[in-house]
Amino acid sequence: MILFDRYPGGKKYACTFSYDDGCKQDRRLVELFNKYGMKCTFNMFSGSMMSDSGEGIKKHELSTLFAGHEIAAHAHNHPHLERMPLAAQYDQIIKDRQILEPHYGKIIRGMAYPFGTYSEDTFTAMKTAGIVYGRTVASNPSTFAPPATDTEFLTWAPTTHHNEAAMPVKRFIYNVEKAPWRAGGLLYIWGHAYEFDNEASPVKWEQFEEMLASLAARSYDIWFATNIEIYDYIKATQAIRISADGKMLYNPTDTDVWVSNGAENVKIPAAQSVIIE
Ligand SMILES: [Zn+2]
Repeated sequence: MILFDRYPGGKKYACTFSYDDGCKQDRRLVELFNKYGMKCTFNMFSGSMMSDSGEGIKKHELSTLFAGHEIAAHAHNHPHLERMPLAAQYDQIIKDRQILEPHYGKIIRGMAYPFGTYSEDTFTAMKTAGIVYGRTVASNPSTFAPPATDTEFLTWAPTTHHNEAAMPVKRFIYNVEKAPWRAGGLLYIWGHAYEFDNEASPVKWEQFEEMLASLAARSYDIWFATNIEIYDYIKATQAIRISADGKMLYNPTDTDVWVSNGAENVKIPAAQSVIIE
């Protein structure tokens, strides 16, 4: 039986991170992710980058400091989008793309909602601005099921904020190591890097690094990816065409896809078909 329950390399699990606002602590955070071979999505609001004053992330750092990671939109002035007219919401989102993309050098397709809030119009504004997913600030620690539908991607709820990540990470690692009957899944952690410097925060740099190290030690079965890589991978699995007898699988996308076939993992390379015996 073919199941779309594998990530690249035939891994059963995936892990992604999302950090907001382009604060100065992002520089230290991205080094940590690089040290452990992890990928993060950094959500930047371009209004904060209009001048070179202040200590926050600058435009010229986007293609260098964050190489290998994703830069996503966060709305130009970090507004409550749901309180704005549709046209103004669109303007807030497209401005991020117009300002950030020339420095990032890639096409921006994702965003995190400022304050985690949005309205029905926000989805229209995003669609018009070419944005395919939106990250909320809701937590979804009870399941590691990744989004499957467009609606779920537009209201993408992370597993947990990093301050509450200890238990979900423990359960996730237990699944990876000791629960081969589990279906696999995605661990999604979000936050702001400045919180690691906040005296009142329960999770500081040291605790966060320990968490990363414990996840990196299980990289044999965890795929570390940015938000948009997760999106593109799931969309690619959904695009696989299967012959009526179930033996031929064709991948029309530019992303390699892995599926399970009983005890075996099968790779269906981009733009190729595979025959399963
Ligand atoms: Zn923010």
